[in-house]
This record gives sequence, structure tokens and C-alpha cells, in this order.
Amino acid sequence: ITIFTSSSALGEIDRQNPRLNALASSVPPAAVSDTLDKTIHGPLQEWPVVVKSNIATGGTTTTCASQTLAKYISPFTATAVDLLQKAGAVVVGTSNMDEFGMGSKTQFGIYGPAYNPHQIDASRHSPGGSSGGSAAAVASGMCRIALGSDTGGSVRLPAAWCGVVGFKPTYGRISRHGLVSYASSLDAVGILASTVHDIETAYHIMAVPDSKDMTCMSGSLRDRIDSERPLAGIRIGIPQEFWVEELTESALDAWRHGAQQLAEAGCEIVKVSLPHIPSSLPAYYTLALAEASSNLARYDGIRFGTRSSVRTQILALANASLKYAATRSEGFGPEVQRRILLGTYVMSDSAYQHYYLPSQRIRQLIQREFDQIFALPNALCNSSIATLGNQHRPDGVDAILFPTSNGTAPLQHDSADESSQVSSYVNDVMTVPANLAGIPALSVPVRHSHGMPIGLQLAAQYGDDNLLLQIASHVR
Ligand code: GLN
Repeated sequence: ITIFTSSSALGEIDRQNPRLNALASSVPPAAVSDTLDKTIHGPLQEWPVVVKSNIATGGTTTTCASQTLAKYISPFTATAVDLLQKAGAVVVGTSNMDEFGMGSKTQFGIYGPAYNPHQIDASRHSPGGSSGGSAAAVASGMCRIALGSDTGGSVRLPAAWCGVVGFKPTYGRISRHGLVSYASSLDAVGILASTVHDIETAYHIMAVPDSKDMTCMSGSLRDRIDSERPLAGIRIGIPQEFWVEELTESALDAWRHGAQQLAEAGCEIVKVSLPHIPSSLPAYYTLALAEASSNLARYDGIRFGTRSSVRTQILALANASLKYAATRSEGFGPEVQRRILLGTYVMSDSAYQHYYLPSQRIRQLIQREFDQIFALPNALCNSSIATLGNQHRPDGVDAILFPTSNGTAPLQHDSADESSQVSSYVNDVMTVPANLAGIPALSVPVRHSHGMPIGLQLAAQYGDDNLLLQIASHVR
């Protein structure tokens, strides 16, 4: 058992960060001990925490690994971070990430690539992304828990590749106040830790209503949907559509191993089908980019974003738009620019009908398919939630089990290779369905495959976070 103290975390930061580049900034040791002196007694007392650079953390920059926010200091602290600090946790650093959360390898950002703490020979692997810095920080002992954001898998994929646990709660469980928006209808604050138990402890502290985020679940909804069920008799579905050709032998092996462990814990394992899963990736990359193009419009150098220093005459309209263009060209990296352009295109008059609307329909179909396989009815589709218990579908499953990714971490290349863009989007095929449906999902490390970790994913019905965590503690 590792005993975590802030000083051991600071020691690991010193020792390991130069090699891993997991952190965007670290809090000076004097400031950490200052905080420790003032620390409130609480359930997370002195837990060292690393926060992703797109979650506002008072006193340090919230850069989103972007040039446009390189000097931005938020005037407030995110609700999630505030709750952790009030429970006694100490922020020791902010983490490296893909710019604005757009990526799967932690390679696109002003800090340069981060690296996986697990290594074979001299080759250096990606920690996954976009919360790769958070995952590498947990895996190397720089912190006890880390916060990440998960729009399409950014907490679960790096957790799987770094060998830690990564949890994306139900949409709206943890307040998004202070999380910089990428795609607001998909974004969730997620947690990374070495054990399911630490995730659970931190989750219960952050999963509370917040009037500052109108999509954060109300207290009364939480009361109605929170349920505890015994593990014996729990039905676990194996969704056939994730059984794809690209799945490596190690991912398949991990999948079989996880199913066997859950069967031994008293769960019943059954096959299920979610026919529209193969369409979730194109639907995600249409909807997420459409929302991103709108969310990122605020970085115009006027209110937000570093203004270009290109000289223009203030009153000439043509010059003003040049200044605006220069601000955005200098402020955003190539991947973010590519996505803003694609997102703007799919929202244009002609493309809207062909891309945006069909993607919304696919999203609805996927949500419906999840509702059809789960035993628990979806609380959002039901007016009389009080009778939920009576409506259990006896042939439904309580959770589904499937790989987090096709295989283990790929190599991290120092320069972003243009030709591999689409193949890097393919990494997300296993993780985006949970965001489209808003359901909770988590990745647990199961076993090392030839020295590199591999993760297994569990997902459950909207609001069934507690059961999911309970099941996850039986897989290892
Ligand atoms: N890799 C996905 C993307 O680039 C997911 C990112 C995320 O969850 N923030 O959109």
C-alpha cells in the first residue's frame, strides 16, 4: 500500500515530471505547506490532487494548453475543485492535456507531448488523452487523485493506457461550473485514481447539486435515482458490437478475464446488442465539433483570449476582421483550428441537413438502445420516477462490460503527424457512446499485456453511478 502524503507527491513530481511532462504547472512546495497549515479537517485531508488545465483552479493559470489562454487566471475556482479543497485536499499541480481537450494522446498543446510512466525498453508511449497528464500523474505517484474532463473518453482512455482507474459519472452528477467548455452537452468532470475506493470517496464529495450549473442534477432527482442493490443476481451485458476486428488479442483477453471475475462474484453474464454503436463515432465527431465551434467563438481577443499584436487601424472594419483572424490563427493550434472549421461547416445551411441532423438522430437512437437493454428505466424518460422500482425489466441488464480501447498505448510521436489524424479519432470508438447517452462509465486496469497496462470498461443506466462503482471494485 502506498502511503500518500503531499511531500511524497512533491518528491515524485521532482523526480518524474522532467521525464513524463505530465504537469503544466506545479505548486511551489512552500505554498503547499502553507495550505497544509491551514488545511481543514476532512475526509480528503492532505490528499495531493492534480487538476486538468481546463478546470479553473484559483491562483494558477487555466490555460487549456492553448496559446490563447496561456496567461489566463480565472477569477473563480471550479465547484469540483472547491469541494475537494473544502474536504481537505491540496492541489499540487495542473496537468498537461490536448488543447481544449481535443485529442486522444496528449500531444496537441503548448506544453508538448506527455509520456506514459509505463515503458518498454527505450520506447516512449503516449499516456492517452486528452487527460493524459492527469493519468500519468496518478500512475507515477505525483498525486492521490486527479481531475480530468471526459467529452468522448478523455478520462477513461488515458486511465486504461496508464493502468489507473478513470470514472466519467452520469452527465450532470458533478458540476461543470469552472470546466472550460468543449462540447457542453457531452462534457463531464471525471476522476482518476489508483483504486476504485479513492474514486468513490472523491466522487461522493463532488457529486452534489450546484446552482451555478443549470445542467447539474437537482437534489430531488438525486434522491429519487440513488439506489443500492446487492451484487448477487446483477446481470452484466456483453455488447456484441464492441467485438470488432481491430480488437487486439490482449484486449480480448482482458475482456474474457473481467467477465469471468464478475461471474465468480455472483453476476450473471449475458449477450446484448446495441446495433447503432458503429455510428456513434461519426455522430460524436459531428456533434462535438459543432458545439466546439460555438463554444470557442469567445476567444476573440476582446473579452477572452490573447489579442494578436498585429498592428491594424482601429476604426477600419476590414482591419478589425484581420485582427480577429490573426488573434485566432495565433491563439489556436492546428488541431483546434481544423475542428473549428469542421464544426462551423456542419452547422452551415447546406451541411446541417446532411450531417448535423442525422447525427442528432443517431444520438437519440443510441440513447434509446441503451434504455432497451438496461433493467433500470431511464429516470429522464419517466414522469413517475417514484415507481422506478416496479418497472424493472426482468430481462434487462444492470451494467455492460467491454474494452476501453482496442489495445495498449501507442508510441508518442513528438510531432503531430497529419496523416494519422483519422486513425487517432478511431481510438475513441469504445468511449464516445457513453457520452452520447449521458450514462456513467468507468475504466479499470485489469492486467498488464507485455508490460503495458490495459483497461476494461463498465457502463450503466443514467444515474446508476453507485452500482457501477460497486461492480468495478470486483474487477482487477
Ligand atoms: N478524443 C476525443 C476528442 O478528441 C475525446 C476528447 C475528450 O473527451 N475531451 O474529441
